[in-house]
Amino acid sequence: MTTTLSSARSRAAARPAPGKALLAPGAEVRLAMAVHRAGERPKNALPTLAVLGRSNVGKSSLLNALLGAKVAKVSQTPGRTQALYWYRVGDRFDVVDCPGYGYAKTGREKRESFEGLIESLLLGTSEGAGAAAALLLVDSRLEPQNSDLSMSLFLRESSVPSLVAATKWDAVKPSQRVRQLRTLAAAFAAPDRPLLPVSSETGENLPELARLLRAALTPSPKE
Ligand code: GDP
Repeated sequence: MTTTLSSARSRAAARPAPGKALLAPGAEVRLAMAVHRAGERPKNALPTLAVLGRSNVGKSSLLNALLGAKVAKVSQTPGRTQALYWYRVGDRFDVVDCPGYGYAKTGREKRESFEGLIESLLLGTSEGAGAAAALLLVDSRLEPQNSDLSMSLFLRESSVPSLVAATKWDAVKPSQRVRQLRTLAAAFAAPDRPLLPVSSETGENLPELARLLRAALTPSPKE
């Protein structure tokens, strides 16, 4: 194989960064399945985390930081059909990268396919259980967005335990942080639903987020 700088760069970037997989240190992360039809899932699904957010919220960056691997950004490629990308993390759990939402001009067909995929992932079907937990990402620089508020309400009404991470926290000026956090918490947090401001750029609060996610995904010991 001919080595070029650009092929070396993409291969280096694709290699998991050892010891940096915050969610499951040392675990192998692999793409188990790209799901295009509501209800499909890998065989022997493990406790599943659904990761949701508007397009451009910083989902790929956060997944890369949490999984310590370059998760493919295929979900964002224009023209691709929407899919749920199931990543298997060791033999411990599945993390599902859901399509970004929030484009004002999304057509009816696309919206319905998105809704079918997400509802069957979160709520489960006769083929399998729903998600063990959901991670909703909101952009910490913005006021609460309608599409995020709808997703938040849907999650609250489904009985899936959820956490909210406010992304790009490094980009919020220190003088605005208290006010912005209060606004985001009022819109999205609840007593059983923590909201954490995080930054994939600086790593702020990522270990705490990983800890909360592990706890949500680890079945509690039987009495
Ligand atoms: P996705 O479309 O939700 O997967 O978002 P990406 O991870 O591709 O990020 C979208 C944009 O936000 C890119 O320009 C990133 O560089 C930027 N971004 C992602 N995470 C952060 C962060 O923690 N801080 C800042 N300042 N920018 C970020």
